[in-house]
Amino acid sequence: MNQDLRLILICAISLCLICCTKSNSQKSLEGLFESYKSELVSSAKFTKYALAARSDGLDTLSHLLVAIAQSDSIHAANHAKVLEKFGKDHETYEKADIAVKATPENLKLVLKEKSFVMQSAYPGFIKRAEQEKIPQVATTLSWAYNVEKKQLQYLRMASTIISKGNEKKIPLVWLICPTCGDIYSLQDLKGKCEFCLTAQENFMGYKSPAE
Ligand SMILES: [Zn+2]
Repeated sequence: MNQDLRLILICAISLCLICCTKSNSQKSLEGLFESYKSELVSSAKFTKYALAARSDGLDTLSHLLVAIAQSDSIHAANHAKVLEKFGKDHETYEKADIAVKATPENLKLVLKEKSFVMQSAYPGFIKRAEQEKIPQVATTLSWAYNVEKKQLQYLRMASTIISKGNEKKIPLVWLICPTCGDIYSLQDLKGKCEFCLTAQENFMGYKSPAE
């Protein structure tokens, strides 16, 4: 192989490697951007549904919905920080219109949406970020994914309680980890966050036993 041909070949391979890396990391960031939009819409939706639940006389459910809105808002902020780090513009995104119906219908819809996010969207996005070795993206997605699983458990629990007409049995107090957005009822507290290890004294809504 002559010198010129070898040089052209090296350049072509290098160019290909650069393009592939860029395209892969862009794929990972696309997944993160989709998750960011989804968390942002979800947070706005839960805020509206919480108000609707209060109007429908379901005060305890309303507290849970507010907590989930705060939790999703932390996920969106965490995703945004990573997007910014990689130079991906997210400011241009405009929130979707949110239709509010009666609480049983709202609850049915969010249960369906949370199930999809938890079972399909997040696992795929996390896998891609791990394959492409982008730990910042994988971490923020994994935190949100793990918290989504807990949110779904709490929503299912609340839905079952409401269907039996025992709305007052839904916990009234919820605490939020400010780092990863994890959500806890008082009886679930374990001293520190199970996902990011933040001390429970720093949780939003935490009150020391003396208070
Ligand atoms: Zn946490």
